[in-house]
Amino acid sequence: MQRLGEKYQSVEAFGWAARDSSGHLSPFVFSRRETGEEEMRVKVLYCGVCHSDLHCLKNEWHSSIYPLVPGHEIVGEVTEIGRKVSKFSIGDKIGVGCIVDSCRACESCREDQENYCTKSVATYNGVHYDGTVNYGGYSDHIVVDERYAVKIPHTLPLASAAPLLCAGISMYSPMKYFGLAGPGKHIGIVGLGGLGHIGVRFAKAFGSKVTVVSSTAGKSKDALEIFEADGFLVSTDEDQMQAAMGTMDGIIDTVSASHPILPLIGLLKPSGKLVLLGATEKPFDLHAFSLILGRKSIAGSAIGGIKETQEMINFAAEHGIKAEIETISMEYVNTAMDRLAKGDVRYRFVIDIANTLAVTRS
Ligand code: NAP
Ligand code: ZN
Ligand code: ZN
Repeated sequence: MQRLGEKYQSVEAFGWAARDSSGHLSPFVFSRRETGEEEMRVKVLYCGVCHSDLHCLKNEWHSSIYPLVPGHEIVGEVTEIGRKVSKFSIGDKIGVGCIVDSCRACESCREDQENYCTKSVATYNGVHYDGTVNYGGYSDHIVVDERYAVKIPHTLPLASAAPLLCAGISMYSPMKYFGLAGPGKHIGIVGLGGLGHIGVRFAKAFGSKVTVVSSTAGKSKDALEIFEADGFLVSTDEDQMQAAMGTMDGIIDTVSASHPILPLIGLLKPSGKLVLLGATEKPFDLHAFSLILGRKSIAGSAIGGIKETQEMINFAAEHGIKAEIETISMEYVNTAMDRLAKGDVRYRFVIDIANTLAVTRS
């Protein structure tokens, strides 16, 4: 019997996949569809390693479809275009993030918020409308409809632009939506990892005041000197947390594991907002009074729409914002995942796909 996702398609592709929830990645030959009329074939140059890749590899969200080729922070070069493609040309450097399609008709789609379309199709571990399972950017090429790609401005270095496609937009969008971007606003960013460090850079470029709240005291120097945060709090230091109570307009929480949120709510001013980005499965401990007294709110946010992703990339180019990366080879990816699980990365791994993937094919 043919399994969903293993339907033969005409173009051979090569990447690295996990076969089960051990998450171990190894070489994988598969196939991709012909380039459709409104689609582009894109040679993957770089792909960022997001913590969501790790959650999915290990089936931590109980929705993984194996074999699973991760990767949704993709920067590549257009090598083939369908005859109706109008926005891109062969040779263009483009970015693909977390979604590659959506229904195009619902309210979210009509409002350029495809990321909230209930029928949106994930770049990997998502089922395409033709019934095949999507494979992500840890692979030699992808096929994408032109509506779901963005242009990478010439001034952005390609490798360090890759993390903007997920980490960048995931931080940019809530800062703007929740009114935290701009002079006079004080943002707390919880977790100085892949999302967090880019968030500090966007917050500073918006002119906001930003304080990093970290569980790792040793990150203080990087936060204050490299990323130029205005303040740094160690989340387990009760005196520091107490002294900062009631000072923040909003907090963006990027922590990838379960953690207490009551102390974070305490950091908010009246009417302040705690925005959750970290995708932990375990429910939070919450007391109603922590919100009632102070009219505070808790919200969530997921990436951003394609139009806003282009806006974010252009803003990044204008303000010289890029991710702080460790460029790695495809061979190194399992070690990178082990290190990411331990929080040992400064501050995003990016796989040099173009130069290191092909040699792993025997
Ligand atoms: P990451 O690079 O691993 O960073 C996460 C940071 O969280 C760590 O650097 C660490 O920062 C902190 N942390 C980790 N474990 C902790 C613990 N047990 N207690 C307290 N702090 C801890 O991950 P990422 O790629 O930035 O992704 C972060 C989370 O966001 C993941 O769950 C990912 O799936 C999710 N995500 C959400 C969206 C969205 O749109 N909502 C988009 C992308 C990713 P410190 O050392 O500074 O404490
Ligand atoms: Zn991601
Ligand atoms: Zn829709």
